[in-house]
Amino acid sequence: MSYKNFPMVPRVIFGRGSFNQLNEIIAPKRLNVNAPFVFLVDDVFKGNAWLTSRIPLSYDDRVIYISAKEEPKTGQVDSLVEDIILTSRQGTSGIIGIGGGTILDLAKAVAIMLTNEGEAKDYQGWDLVKNPAIYHVGIPTISGTGAEVSRTTVLTGPEMKLGINSDFTPFDQVVLDPELTKDVPTHQWFYTGMDCFIHCVESLNGTYLNAFSQSHGEKAFDLCKEIFLNNDLSVSESQDKLMMASWHGGMSIAYSQVGVAHAMSYGLSYLLGTKHGIGNCIVFDHLEEFYPEDVKLFKQMKKKHNIQLPKGICANLDDSQFDTMINISLSLEPLWENAIGKNWKKLITRDKLKSLYQKM
Ligand code: NAD
Ligand code: ZN
Repeated sequence: MSYKNFPMVPRVIFGRGSFNQLNEIIAPKRLNVNAPFVFLVDDVFKGNAWLTSRIPLSYDDRVIYISAKEEPKTGQVDSLVEDIILTSRQGTSGIIGIGGGTILDLAKAVAIMLTNEGEAKDYQGWDLVKNPAIYHVGIPTISGTGAEVSRTTVLTGPEMKLGINSDFTPFDQVVLDPELTKDVPTHQWFYTGMDCFIHCVESLNGTYLNAFSQSHGEKAFDLCKEIFLNNDLSVSESQDKLMMASWHGGMSIAYSQVGVAHAMSYGLSYLLGTKHGIGNCIVFDHLEEFYPEDVKLFKQMKKKHNIQLPKGICANLDDSQFDTMINISLSLEPLWENAIGKNWKKLITRDKLKSLYQKM
């Protein structure tokens, strides 16, 4: 038996207003005055002086605003890297991602690709990255994905939606300032928060479960239940708690794996561009046979927050489109093995997946 020896985020600061300390955190990491810090910022904050006036810019530092409308693509990473190399005369001091999972994953991928040759698509998979990334900092502005703590950056490439999973992927520094999440719209709170809830359900019910994953998963699961069944999302206590739930949910799957909802929602995302949080919700709503009690809880949470999920998104698909989604989903073997066990192929057939997709 060999156990994973995985890296963790070495530095984290937590607290409302901790974003104000960004300058003192990054200043010692500056390589020289001609090597800028590049801030990749969700464009939802463009013109938002409350946040942007506190981004500590000096010398040639740059802000690049990025839309989170679509999830990160390998080609998008390659273009950003090219742009940064062309405009930074003496290297780059660091990449700082400020946003949700989309921007955090882009920041991780850009930091890796600045020190590794070739294209981002060449590194999708497990442990293909050769050189350490440049200094990179993650600052989440919405909670749930666990991207701030994970060892992967999920990218859609020409052939696959697959992460760059490597020891060089995790952030060198994370800033957890729950106040940054105060303006997230309720429906988005729900979708991204449910990503965390579903990480816990899939980890806690998986065959890969161990005491490490269970301890993190149970804490995050309880926090999600408390936040989404009992609390008002707009209160600061819920913002603080969901930020920590996201962290623990991410830690839980680091040492186990996700399961059925993720395996199927990757198919929806690849073919239809359905975003991760809402895609997981659309799938999870139909997974009673795999996670009966938790799907019941999910439906209660959905009702409490008045969430209407899209229906019939697969209604007009043809056979080749179903095949594409099924191929993507079945290729995620560790997810199925975690969810169902070593003999998963007996239960999870192409017909079974098609009939589930047809319900969505
Ligand atoms: P997101 O980053 O796409 O953000 C969702 C929406 O919320 C966007 O419209 C964004 O502009 C908006 N938003 C973000 N912060 C806001 C704020 N403070 N106020 C108002 N609006 C705000 O969504 P997400 O759910 O955080 O991330 C999804 C992405 O994360 C996917 O690409 C998925 O593949 C990835 N992911 C990565 C990991 C990982 O471990 N690397 C894990 C799970 C998901
Ligand atoms: Zn997820």
